[in-house]
Amino acid sequence: MTGPRALGTALGSIVGAGNVLSGLQATAAFSSDATGTWRGSARCVVLPATADELAAVITELVSRDVAYVVQGGNTGLVAGATPLGGEVVVSTRRLSGVDSLDAPRREMRVRAGTSLAQVQRVAAAAGLELAVDLAARDAATIGGLVATDAAGSRSLRHGRMGAQLLEVDVVLPEGVLVRGLEVPPRAATRATGAGRGRHEHLARLVAGSEGTLGTVTSARVRLVPRLGARATALVAVARVADAVELAARARRALPSLDAMELVESDAVELVAEAAASHPPLAGTALVLLECAAAVSPRRELASFLEGADEVRGVLVATDATARAQLWSWRRDVPAALASVGGHALDVGVPLARVPELLARVRAALAALAPGSRLVAFGRLGVGALHLHVVGAAAGHTAVDAAIARAVVELGGDVAGEHGVGRAKAALLERGGGEAPREPAGELKAVLDPRNLANPGVPAMRGGAGQRRW
Ligand SMILES: Cc1cc2nc3c(=O)[nH]c(=O)nc-3n(C[C@H](O)[C@H](O)[C@H](O)COP(=O)(O)OP(=O)(O)OC[C@H]3O[C@@H](n4cnc5c(N)ncnc54)[C@H](O)[C@@H]3O)c2cc1C
Repeated sequence: MTGPRALGTALGSIVGAGNVLSGLQATAAFSSDATGTWRGSARCVVLPATADELAAVITELVSRDVAYVVQGGNTGLVAGATPLGGEVVVSTRRLSGVDSLDAPRREMRVRAGTSLAQVQRVAAAAGLELAVDLAARDAATIGGLVATDAAGSRSLRHGRMGAQLLEVDVVLPEGVLVRGLEVPPRAATRATGAGRGRHEHLARLVAGSEGTLGTVTSARVRLVPRLGARATALVAVARVADAVELAARARRALPSLDAMELVESDAVELVAEAAASHPPLAGTALVLLECAAAVSPRRELASFLEGADEVRGVLVATDATARAQLWSWRRDVPAALASVGGHALDVGVPLARVPELLARVRAALAALAPGSRLVAFGRLGVGALHLHVVGAAAGHTAVDAAIARAVVELGGDVAGEHGVGRAKAALLERGGGEAPREPAGELKAVLDPRNLANPGVPAMRGGAGQRRW
């Protein structure tokens, strides 16, 4: 019995008939990704409310050889949760809520479908926060953040989502629920050899595995104190190489450094155009540096910048309104780019290789897509560079392949900030050489021999957790 009705009835008996959605209209919101570019068609959408229900749903699907896609808030930008092959969507939307907050230990236990905004609200009441924050916070879920190993502006200081993870409960690809997989700190693992067992391994691999190695049902995450005093500087530099030089030194010299972003002048001009204003400073690129501490880090930031030869102009702010104004030159770039169209690819390369990557991409564009131009921005030191090609045909495969090749040759990866998903899966091959990361690929074959969990998404990024460029 694998017909749609039989499947729907079986799933309905687990989660309640009202929590199995079918038909184009009911499933439309679950069938495309946040970019709107990738549209699939869900065979049905099933919404379990507990980890046991989720495990039973997956067991049922697998017993019928039915492929499925796990979906959280569906804010992903690489079609990682999009049922392009007509899969069943298993949504975690009802698996939501903060189970406990241990303020003295700075830890929270939270169900996978809880939104990031909800986590931040509960944490803020205790003077704490999750260190990874992003603009899609109202819908993005903890399960999605873990699965994509999401990065935010503060990942420079605290690491990506994988680095916030202390423990996970996971439903393995064939439906077995494993609770309490602890992620020991790397230092402890090195010092004592503890936690080198199978479980520790799996827990680490889940971060960044994009739903291919298991479905997170709950996570225990670390929180950090909310730091009240902030100082932000917008710095103009003459060359991207100077931005990298400044960034590398800032990282060494500023203990309170919390965020560091790059915006090339083309992007600044687009933001200025959209706001009918002028770029705030003249230069080839802007670097936004933000320090955060218990007491004002303004002096620390200012004295660092005074001694920096790369600085061509600088604006500094400490109050919230003025800081938001400086941040708007970075924050408003995606919206400004959306209004001019084009094709976006986010990638990661080590900090020192950023100038070379940009030069190689510009050379490739000149050869392959004359008349197009590159607009670049991103997070310095986190491995998250957004490359936006304006004027080339969207999805220009030769351009994408050239970018992927350059990224890989420079020691980076095409997963960047948003992951690989289905959108960038083909690029892994064209990039030439980004082989499935062991042991994630090996584990996938053992845990999911029929490739039913998120087929089409390569199981290669698991364990990316604590990477920091
Ligand atoms: C406006 C905007 C801004 C953004 N900014 C950032 C940013 O700064 N940094 C960043 O990293 N990303 C950013 N993103 C992308 C996106 O928000 C993140 O990738 C986020 O982590 C996805 O969470 P989600 O719950 O929406 O996951 P979904 O989109 O539903 O799924 C994403 C992937 O995770 C898997 N998945 C989801 N839930 C689970 C689970 N419980 N267990 C296992 N696998 C699961 C899915 O199968 C899929 O592969 C942004 C997106 C938007 C729209």
